Amino acid sequence: MTTKAQNKSAPAETEAPEVTFRHHDNKQNYYTPGIAARLWLSRGFDVLPIQPNSKRIFSGFGQYQNRLRTIAECVHWFGNEHTKNNMAVVCNGEDFIIDFDSFELYAAWAKVADEKFTLSYTEYSPRGVHVFLCGPLPAGLKLISGVEIKRVCLVAPSVVNGVSYESGFGEIFPGELTNCFSSLSALFSPSAAATSPAVARPHNQNDLIADIKSRVLCADVLWKFAPKTYESLRGAGRFRSARCPFHKAGMEVKHSFWIDTELNLWGCHAESIRGDVINLYAKLTGKTNTEAIKDLLFSSTMAGPIRGPK
Ligand SMILES: [Zn+2]
Repeated sequence: MTTKAQNKSAPAETEAPEVTFRHHDNKQNYYTPGIAARLWLSRGFDVLPIQPNSKRIFSGFGQYQNRLRTIAECVHWFGNEHTKNNMAVVCNGEDFIIDFDSFELYAAWAKVADEKFTLSYTEYSPRGVHVFLCGPLPAGLKLISGVEIKRVCLVAPSVVNGVSYESGFGEIFPGELTNCFSSLSALFSPSAAATSPAVARPHNQNDLIADIKSRVLCADVLWKFAPKTYESLRGAGRFRSARCPFHKAGMEVKHSFWIDTELNLWGCHAESIRGDVINLYAKLTGKTNTEAIKDLLFSSTMAGPIRGPK
């Protein structure tokens, strides 16, 4: 398990891929098919070529016996960045995918699941969300309707019926899955969770962290510690974009930074980073996450009038 975790995190550092803008339609597919295929190989997945604009496998790949496992094979199928071929990934080892049929189901889970799960690599499918995780699945796991565990799924930049899969950020969380499924078990009702914020969390510390996350908004932290980014916020819906405060060359101009005002998360497309309000505060103030939690809980750092999202 630990070996696998190390293997998994290593390529992300050593093989930082060249970021290529494939679309300009505000979708999050910044990788060409060839780079996406390489990334999946480096994560320990196999890749399958899928017919354009569909979920149909190419002949010869039935039962997945001819899954692509080398960069040369992937280059053959996906190396041309204008290829229309779709791409599926096949899990190995303890990797698996939680397939949420709708964003509402995902959001209900993300509100109560531990951050280590919600920050694991996630993609948007045309109608729902895929969360990629790694670890031993509990025996007899029975999930609520609309949520499935999968070992094969299409990934970005695939397109089905004209709608893109959207690539996500970060790496796949490997490890202990305790509490990962509690909110998804057959006994759980997502509508109940959505209306009752009092879904029990196991530790006091988590209650305190949940308290910070509900009180302090990413936009508040930007307003106080990255005013230029705050001023550049645009958009009116759930997702706002802004000039990223973390680019070394100074303020960038492409609005790669985003905040999700519903889940109180942030990220930067250009750097493949994302996080919550606590590590946004930590990153902007040069503090550790633990110091950030202390500040946000016990000091008046964020006290006073708070402007919230523009
Ligand atoms: Zn950035």
